[in-house]
Amino acid sequence: MNLLPFGKLPAHKPRSFVPPTIDLGDWAQIAPLFDQLEARAAHCRSAAELERWLLDWSELSAALDEEASRRYIAMTCHTDSPEAEKAYLQFVENVDPQLKPRQFALEKIYVGHPQRGELLKIRRGELPEPQTEMASGTRSARPSEARYAVFDRDVKNHVELFRPENVPLETEEAKLCQQYQKLVGSLTVNFRGEEKTLVQMGRYLEEPDRNLRQETWELVTQRRLLEVETFEDIFDRLIALRERIARNAGFKNYRDYAFRRLGRFDYTPEDCTRFHDAVAREIMPAVRELQETRRRRLGLDKLHPGHLRPWDLAVDPQNRPPLKPFAEVGEMVSRTQKIFNRLDSELAGGFRQMQDLRLLDLDNRKGKAPGGYQQNLSESRLPFIFMNAVGQQRDVETILHEAGHAFHALAAQDEDLYAYRSAPIEFCEVASMSMELLGNEFIEEFYSAADANRARRTHLEGIIGFFPWMATVDGFQHWVYTHPGHSRAERAAVWLELMDRFGGEVDWTGYESARAHLWHRQLHIFLHPFYYVEYGIAQLGALQVWANSKRDQAKALSDYKQSLALGGSRPLPELFAAAGCPFRFDVATIKPLVQLAREELKKL
Ligand SMILES: [Zn+2]
Repeated sequence: MNLLPFGKLPAHKPRSFVPPTIDLGDWAQIAPLFDQLEARAAHCRSAAELERWLLDWSELSAALDEEASRRYIAMTCHTDSPEAEKAYLQFVENVDPQLKPRQFALEKIYVGHPQRGELLKIRRGELPEPQTEMASGTRSARPSEARYAVFDRDVKNHVELFRPENVPLETEEAKLCQQYQKLVGSLTVNFRGEEKTLVQMGRYLEEPDRNLRQETWELVTQRRLLEVETFEDIFDRLIALRERIARNAGFKNYRDYAFRRLGRFDYTPEDCTRFHDAVAREIMPAVRELQETRRRRLGLDKLHPGHLRPWDLAVDPQNRPPLKPFAEVGEMVSRTQKIFNRLDSELAGGFRQMQDLRLLDLDNRKGKAPGGYQQNLSESRLPFIFMNAVGQQRDVETILHEAGHAFHALAAQDEDLYAYRSAPIEFCEVASMSMELLGNEFIEEFYSAADANRARRTHLEGIIGFFPWMATVDGFQHWVYTHPGHSRAERAAVWLELMDRFGGEVDWTGYESARAHLWHRQLHIFLHPFYYVEYGIAQLGALQVWANSKRDQAKALSDYKQSLALGGSRPLPELFAAAGCPFRFDVATIKPLVQLAREELKKL
């Protein structure tokens, strides 16, 4: 029984190493391929032979990745199917754990290979060169010509950071992260006689009735505050573990280790600090202005004291009912198609192809996992989009966003090295976030002129409002991991300073403790340390693509598509440059982008 929404997909390239009939869920059939690769490495006596070896390894990795994706897709599309669940768990439990050490063994063989230096002499050839010149003053302006330079750098980094003594520490870390997730997931409140999760309570913050908003906000906040000690305790233990992991790997603090581990070769902690400063200087005035508009529209200036409170931030300031972009998913797809038709014929063709191949599962129905994602089918070199659309503006943002990721996968299709068919997250999100902004230009396909402007306004406000929170979360972690032995009180004081700097004009009087512990609800701080600034970096890129399109839409789109086609074959500054964006997060870069956003907001 086929539990996948799509049927047989066209092969992008026939296999040359992996047997066509292999069962990729059976480790006994997979292991011999790894044995072969390990044995063959010793016989690679030229760069060409080593390259062939890399491409065979790449073919195997892509086939395994696609197998895992297919099982994941089937499971999330049919959470009520025992067959889909079994197939998924079989892979996770029996193949994945075997796979990791075998992949790592091949990485080590590669790094120690005598032909590696020769391989690095192979220059890039067949792939298109980026057309855009680097902005002057940007780092790494000289493109690295070596075809395998990025791959080599990443594999070497991975191998160098590995310490066997960190394996048990990482297991402990994962357990603590799980404790955090379990705790957050278990929190409920009793609201008017009914037990509700905190996620379920979220929608009340969008209610026009201010007293209701305050009541529900207080309920949720008080529930979280009961767990302050537990959250602090989990975090203290995580910090201690992470400091040990970093020291074992030879770093003086966890921040420096995390930068390397996240593959941040092209920006430094100082660049992040400059980013925070630029947000304070350039974005905070816009945030304050938006908050002031919100305060007036909510009619708070007639009250005494007429301040914006924490429960006033999510409601529509004019008390309008939610936007209704579409009634049925079919309608959402056809209107999104029309947006792409107006934007670019090539992208439109890509979205059309996804429909023809049934690479979209978008409706909300019983037996489907929550949320949305875009997944690459790495061997077919095709994207798949999963969503639970219910007819909200949020769904329109999501389909445009995920389509941007899908266009990235389609654009990089002809790249033969598996590792180069996807880019670092800082740039992946440029692909998707740009598509939200570019697609929004034609959002009248869903709305009347007035509603279209309302949707654009909400979207732009969200973008501006994200930067200060990003700076707060990032700045906090920079401090935490460079101040070993700090106390909980010192930590809270630093968080409060950041809230003063980046919180704007929201009145927290009477809720000081909630404010000091607000970071407890940001799961990245616990689960994915330092992984957050990426979204700020990408959002700057997306705003830049949008700004470019206001000047010259055809050129902006052509740069965008060319940069997507590079996949992950270039360092970040080159990917950004190809898309027509400077890879900088300073005042000079941010200033004109904020100015553009403010001018646009005035028109809406
Ligand atoms: Zn995304």
